[in-house]
Amino acid sequence: MIFKCQNCGGNVVYSPEKGAMYCPHCEGIDSHQKMEGSSEEACPNCGAPVEIGQFVSASKCEHCGNYIVFDKRIEGMYEPNLILPFKIGKEKAKEILKKEFKKKAFTPAGFLSDAALDKMEGTYVPFWLYDYMANYTFDGEGTKVRTWRRGNTEYTETSFYHIVRDMDIDFDKIPVDASVGMDDQIMDLMEPYDYTILEKFQDKYMSGFMGEVFNEPSGKLEPRAKEKAKNDSEALLKESMSAYSSIRTHHKNLDLNKNGLSYALFPVWVYTYSYHNEKYPFYINGQTGKVVGKTPLSVQKLMGYGATVFAACFTMLTLLKMVLEVL
Ligand SMILES: [Zn+2]
Ligand SMILES: [Zn+2]
Repeated sequence: MIFKCQNCGGNVVYSPEKGAMYCPHCEGIDSHQKMEGSSEEACPNCGAPVEIGQFVSASKCEHCGNYIVFDKRIEGMYEPNLILPFKIGKEKAKEILKKEFKKKAFTPAGFLSDAALDKMEGTYVPFWLYDYMANYTFDGEGTKVRTWRRGNTEYTETSFYHIVRDMDIDFDKIPVDASVGMDDQIMDLMEPYDYTILEKFQDKYMSGFMGEVFNEPSGKLEPRAKEKAKNDSEALLKESMSAYSSIRTHHKNLDLNKNGLSYALFPVWVYTYSYHNEKYPFYINGQTGKVVGKTPLSVQKLMGYGATVFAACFTMLTLLKMVLEVL
């Protein structure tokens, strides 16, 4: 399908700046009419042959420049449940990159030229979003150490505690990118996304952008979601025991129960710069403006999705033993 302007016949695209469908030719707002029924071989506007890759769901006709959304790639099993529409338009994305790299000591000539930056394309990356209800139980022993000095003597008091944790953690929409072409680590670094403006899927948001369908089924990618849930459960458990100087585990158990799954499209601006026969791809989160580059990566663990903890933390103040040492 393509979105055509009823006033001038131009190609209407979704404008992140205006938050509306926009005709760049006559500046009409919401003047679009959907022309459905595009075949996958020809541009619905000019009839020129269109070659689309295996996973492409939206693209641009090389002949007339119209943006095409391929009906069959957003229907049936490929129909997304949710979409995060672009919040950042191309001009803004260019500005962000310029600002980011002006600070750097070395950027090759041409890297920030408008001609190069204009090649930047916005693309909707497929994601699976997994929901889990987790239960994490822990049983162990913790110590708290207190030292003080009186006169020439230093005293140390070590208190022992029996620690019991029973945490119910509600993981809401753990994102895992479902595109083989997109580097997993880089997509993880694009987090966090703001889920408050996550919307029910609408095809109009794709006009003006590239798009991909999921490349792999949700079951195959689930281990990555579980890994994230596990790591974050571990972090939450640790945090709940941060008051102790040392911890000994007697027993712990994590149960993960999947209670939801959605297929979503997330916005990413992609800018690939070629320099000395090497490609340097840069990615900008199309919602938040966060920039991730291919080269120096600092892998920082971020909890981007909602993790709500209902923690019942019983620290049994059964003081097992008290030692008063005189040094
Ligand atoms: Zn128009
Ligand atoms: Zn065309």
